[in-house]
Amino acid sequence: MISHPPEPFRIKMVEPITLLDRKARESAMQRAGYNLFGLRSEEIFIDLLTDSGVCAMSHKQWSAMLEGDEAYAGARSYFRLAEVIQDIFDFPYFLPTHQGRAAEHILTTCLIKPGQYVPSNMHFDTTEANIRARGGNPVNCIIDEAYISNLYHPFKGNLDCLKLREFIQRVGAENIPFGMITVTNNAGGGQPVSLENLRAVSQIYKEFCIPFFIDACRFAENAYFIKLREPEYAGKSILEICSEMFALADGMIMSAKKDGLVNIGGFLAMRDKSLFEQASNELILHEGFPTYGGLAGRDLEAIAIGLREVLEEDYLSYRLGQTNYLAEKLLEKGIPIIEPAGAHAIYINAGMLLPHIPKEHFPGQALAVELYLEGGIRTGEIGSLAFAYPDPQTNKMVHPRLELVRLAIPRRVYTQSHLDYVVEVLSRTAAKSETIQGMELIYAPKLLRHFTAKLTPIQNSIVYNGKSLNAVG
Ligand SMILES: *Cc1c(COP(=O)(O)O)cnc(C)c1O
Repeated sequence: MISHPPEPFRIKMVEPITLLDRKARESAMQRAGYNLFGLRSEEIFIDLLTDSGVCAMSHKQWSAMLEGDEAYAGARSYFRLAEVIQDIFDFPYFLPTHQGRAAEHILTTCLIKPGQYVPSNMHFDTTEANIRARGGNPVNCIIDEAYISNLYHPFKGNLDCLKLREFIQRVGAENIPFGMITVTNNAGGGQPVSLENLRAVSQIYKEFCIPFFIDACRFAENAYFIKLREPEYAGKSILEICSEMFALADGMIMSAKKDGLVNIGGFLAMRDKSLFEQASNELILHEGFPTYGGLAGRDLEAIAIGLREVLEEDYLSYRLGQTNYLAEKLLEKGIPIIEPAGAHAIYINAGMLLPHIPKEHFPGQALAVELYLEGGIRTGEIGSLAFAYPDPQTNKMVHPRLELVRLAIPRRVYTQSHLDYVVEVLSRTAAKSETIQGMELIYAPKLLRHFTAKLTPIQNSIVYNGKSLNAVG
């Protein structure tokens, strides 16, 4: 078997990308306030900000879009998608939504009463925010191994069943309107969940009569990890593995912008008829009539085909091989990353690469800025800029454990030579790491500050007794 299978497609439409010269990159970065969200797409050479909604669609998806039925109610495209969802996930009811968070909004609105709890291995940020917006409390019960960045575990996304059971007994099942699990665990590095773990988790929820929903954005990538790493599934097809996964659940939420291989879309599926009826009413209020959700008929067609294409093993072995290729090359160059690599992204340990920059000067953001200046690459900071918050009692900043930079890999978009270029830029950057300066905030909103914050590099900053002394002023 080839460890890094070549792209199982050839390219028949291209979108030019250009590398601006260093001066132009510097002025773009300055204008953007040293925030990569402030850059324009044309200013970027390789964009690894996210894997969401940035997939390249296939010729079959594009041609199916022309067959989109745009009828307000009962569109043919809806029934095509319904058939595919039935085949793969086998829930009797589903509702299209414009993206994953809309499905979360509907589910949480229907089920959560203020003060209740929703456990999961680890909630994604929009899931967490939707639970909180209904007055609920998201709770993460991931295994402890997930927090050790260079420890190998085949299923680092697994939920800790002891923690879950103890938690349910402590707060009472009546205070848990539903339980979840995220596959793969996006917030924890895209790490997979085993079928054994899904089975055990489903058993616990069942025992306490708690409905079980899977956050399934990367279900196919997760299923392929199961095939590779859980010996009893080595001989099964991805479709068979998916059937086993979803038979364990009462429903799912999905962002089709990930494993739906499309640019927009999502859905919500469930077994319970009365929940479906309630969710349909919410959908009509916020998204649209139940046969289109927030989408056009052509979008439903593209999702229907994307969901089948994502199950192809040629595709999945290329996909996981590509991420693994990037991980191996970076490790060869001595760049610290979270191991093992997940499916959709590589996480660089910026705290370890830039030990001279204290957390309060955002080593992750400093690295992300430098990667753009060095090679026009856009990445995302997942560290103190995104996640530090003031302690409500002491008002002192609480920093996340790790200062990371995420290199998310869009599906079917970049080739191996693009990745080689990324490795080259990263190793050039690492070679001069001690010259990279920390950053300072000059503007930040209270919530989700990383999207719109403005920063500035600190010249010759040193830290004394935890206080920054800025040598230049
Ligand atoms: C992306 C994502 C969501 C939200 O989906 P959107 O389409 O971005 O609204 C929810 N959960 C996980 C795990 C995700 O990765």
